[in-house]
Amino acid sequence: MNDPIEERIDRLHTGGIIDMHFDLPMDLYEKRQRRDVLQTEFFPEFETGNVSVVGAAIYIEDRYLPEAGLRVALDQIARLYAETEASEKLTICKSYREIQTARETGKIAFLITMEGIEPLGTDLNQLRVFYELGVRAIGLTHARTNAAGHGGVFAASGSAAEGLTPFGREVVRECEVLGIIIDLAHINPAGFEEILSMTTKPPIVSHTNVRRYYDIDRNISDGQISMIGERRGVIGVNSILVSPRKEESTLDKYIDHIEHIANLIGTDSVGIGFDFFEFIYRQWPESRQKELSAKLTTPHFIPDLMNHSHTRNLTRKLIERGFNDADIEKILHGNWLRILKERL
Ligand SMILES: [Zn+2]
Repeated sequence: MNDPIEERIDRLHTGGIIDMHFDLPMDLYEKRQRRDVLQTEFFPEFETGNVSVVGAAIYIEDRYLPEAGLRVALDQIARLYAETEASEKLTICKSYREIQTARETGKIAFLITMEGIEPLGTDLNQLRVFYELGVRAIGLTHARTNAAGHGGVFAASGSAAEGLTPFGREVVRECEVLGIIIDLAHINPAGFEEILSMTTKPPIVSHTNVRRYYDIDRNISDGQISMIGERRGVIGVNSILVSPRKEESTLDKYIDHIEHIANLIGTDSVGIGFDFFEFIYRQWPESRQKELSAKLTTPHFIPDLMNHSHTRNLTRKLIERGFNDADIEKILHGNWLRILKERL
C-alpha cells in the first residue's frame, strides 16, 4: 500500500485517537451475564480505529431511578474493571501518568466519567467513593433535572432559567478539591455559566455540537464556545447531533462543527467526543426508539462515522478539508492530552 494519503493517516494516528465520551459501561452492564464483551465486541473496533483513550461514561437510565441508581452505577464500574482486567490490551487509568504509561505500552486507556450525578443521590460522601473507584470527570446532569441542576432541553429554548441547586454547587466545590474535572456537556445555559464562575481551570465539554448547525439548548452557542476558548478549555465534537435533518447528518457536517469551533476559538480547543450510540440504539425494540424520539430527539447516525473503527474516515476528511498535520493531531489527541496533563 503506497497511497500517500493512507500513509499520512497512519502517521497521524500513531499518537492515538482520544474519544472523551462513550456509553460503554451501560452496555457492559446490560450484558453482565456474558464474559469478554469488551474484548470481542469493542476491542476490534478500537484497534482498527487506533483509539488510545476512551472516556467511559456511567449513565443511569430512567427505568433504574431513583432506587437502583447507585447499585447500577457500581455494577457498571465493576463490569468495566472485570472486563478490562480480562485483557492485557485494556486498562483503567486514574491519572495522566497512568494514561501515558498505557499509551507507551500500547494499551487502550479508559478514563471513568459520569454523565449525571443521579448515582450520588443527595449524598456528597458518595462523590469521594466514586473518586476512589476512578471517576475523574463528571457532568452534573443529562437532559433531565436532578439534585444538582437542570439539563439543557432538546429544543431551541425552554431550559430552566435557574442554575445549579445548592447541592450542585457543593458537588462542583468538592470535585475541585478531589481533582475531578467538571464536564459542561448537557448542563442548561444558566448552569453552564454558574459552573464557569465557580471554577478557574480549563473547562471541558466532553461531547456536544454547535447550535449554529443544530439549535437546541443541549448544544452550545457561539457565546458559550467563546467562554471555553477564553479559559483554554476543550470541546469534544459529538457525532449524533450534527444536524436535525437525517440527510444532513454527514461526515462533512461533522467537520463543519469542528471548523466552526476552530474558527471561533482556534484549533487548540477542539477535540473528539463521538458519543457513538448506534450500537445501543439498534439493540432497542422499536417502542424504546420511539420513546427516545418523543422524550429527546431522533438521533441521526453518520453512516461513515458510526463506530470507533471509522476514525480513518474522519482523518481522511480532515485532510481533504485542508487541515494541516499539526492541527489534526491536536484534534485527534493533543488537546485532550493537554487537559488531562493539567488536570489529572
Ligand atoms: Zn450525552
